[in-house]
Amino acid sequence: MLGLMQEWPLLCHKILDYAAAQHGTREIVTRSVEGPITRTNYRSVRACALKVAQQLDRDGYREGDRIATLAWNTARHLEAWYGIMGIGAVYHTLNPRLFPEQLVWIMNHAEDKALFVDLTFLPLVEKLAGEVASLGKVIVLTDGAAMPETSLKNAVAYEEWLTGADGDFRWRNLDENAAAGMCYTSGTTGDPKGVLYSHRSNVLHAFIAAQPDALNLGSNESIMPVVPMFHANAWGIAHTAPMVGAKIVMPGARMDGEAIYELLDSEKVSMTAAVPTVWLMLLQYLEETGKKLPHLNRVVIGGSACPRIMTQKFQDNYGVDVIHAWGMTEMSPLGTLGSIKPAYAQLTGDGKLDLQEKQGFPPFGVEMKVTDDEGNEQPWDGKTFGKLKVRGPAVASAYYAGAGAEQFDEEGWFDTGDVSHIDKFGYMQITDRAKDVIKSGGEWISSIDLENIAVGHPDVAEAAVIGISHPKWDERPLLVVVPKAGGKPDRAGILDYMKGKIAKWWIPDDVVFVDEIPHTATGKIQKITLRQQFSGYRFPGT
Ligand code: ADP
Repeated sequence: MLGLMQEWPLLCHKILDYAAAQHGTREIVTRSVEGPITRTNYRSVRACALKVAQQLDRDGYREGDRIATLAWNTARHLEAWYGIMGIGAVYHTLNPRLFPEQLVWIMNHAEDKALFVDLTFLPLVEKLAGEVASLGKVIVLTDGAAMPETSLKNAVAYEEWLTGADGDFRWRNLDENAAAGMCYTSGTTGDPKGVLYSHRSNVLHAFIAAQPDALNLGSNESIMPVVPMFHANAWGIAHTAPMVGAKIVMPGARMDGEAIYELLDSEKVSMTAAVPTVWLMLLQYLEETGKKLPHLNRVVIGGSACPRIMTQKFQDNYGVDVIHAWGMTEMSPLGTLGSIKPAYAQLTGDGKLDLQEKQGFPPFGVEMKVTDDEGNEQPWDGKTFGKLKVRGPAVASAYYAGAGAEQFDEEGWFDTGDVSHIDKFGYMQITDRAKDVIKSGGEWISSIDLENIAVGHPDVAEAAVIGISHPKWDERPLLVVVPKAGGKPDRAGILDYMKGKIAKWWIPDDVVFVDEIPHTATGKIQKITLRQQFSGYRFPGT
């Protein structure tokens, strides 16, 4: 017997309709790429998104067309997303930090038909547009006055293009399983792989993300997604914030400590989210200036492991709660978040920080297990680690055009490529990416744990650990350190500092100092490049 409830397809534009109706005057504030701070609200964003949809339709774009965006977090970028989805086309976020050849490869693979681009990236697009045969219109996210000369034949300034539309347009009626968005993984190994979100998965992910033990969002919040919309959907905030009517503060092109602080302060931001490297810059700025964060309630940190010292500084020095989160582009992207269950509520001090080093537990809508190499589920004992696998309505079921099929099994589990363990209360901790784990004498050493400890040393700005081949142990850890400005850390001092905080045989065999550690396009330590950099390195005496 079927239930007798209404068919109400889960479509992304319904989120924006709701935001405009119920929270129409709630602001979206942007540090514009042109410079000034601009203000709009959900009612205006919806009106503009309808115009975007109308103009795309008039220009001949249709359901299923991939329409790329190469843009910072701004209100215009948000309007473009909803306009694109509103005609059943697919927004495809491009990461400007990728190499031009990678962008060309991705755009050709996705067969992008049009592109919304920020002024910052126009010179880049002028160089690569000729290599993307499918590309038609290029809409530059600015107004006529700021529109520069360009060699692109099909370029138009966004605001001028919109003047051709009156907004008298109806969102397309779509199947909720229709594709809505697309994002390629960084492709640190092999070619990048396309993840294709549906309207249904985006809407369900927004519900999942809003839950109290996830992002805990409501209309009273002022949220700043520093994590870019081109990095895994801005962790879902572009859908969740309008779903709950929260104010959004968009940082645009500037993510330095001073710029981030200014917006946190002037817009009374209550919740923000980004990768650890961004917070490193903010904390440094706060330490230099002595400024505080009176409005900020919590910060979500993920994308790579949040160092213990970062959690401690936010909480102890600034009274800001840290929510450590883990996720992946393939998961829309939220997987687990570290809010505190009653079972752990009594923890304080080091005990609480130990817990917060874990990546947390999944909200409803994400299933998770850890298996050994044969696929046997491992116990939830907080120490037996193995392959982390997930499934759920906002988890990819395949990659675009059939790539990477070996990561999906017949029961619907997706192998994340992460190695982790789960404790008795369901808290998961990543020990490494499968390809980064250090194999020493048949045992595994977690590079993440070592990095976390090393950055606690007062003279260390950033640390990375890689495995170096060793004649006796197969591999041993090498610690690569960027010293803090003015700091003079030495090998013995750092290794001494690590002693007692970790099993003796985990202590790195050597420490090297560098000016810079390479990062990926999403701000993670680029272990592949680092390993290449140190491919000729040998431990003393080996
Ligand atoms: P990209 O590789 O393009 O940046 P993702 O952001 O999807 O793509 O990367 C997901 C991966 O990032 C995860 O599989 C995991 O290895 C790593 N990661 C994400 N969050 C955390 C975290 N809190 N701690 C450790 N690793 C993390």
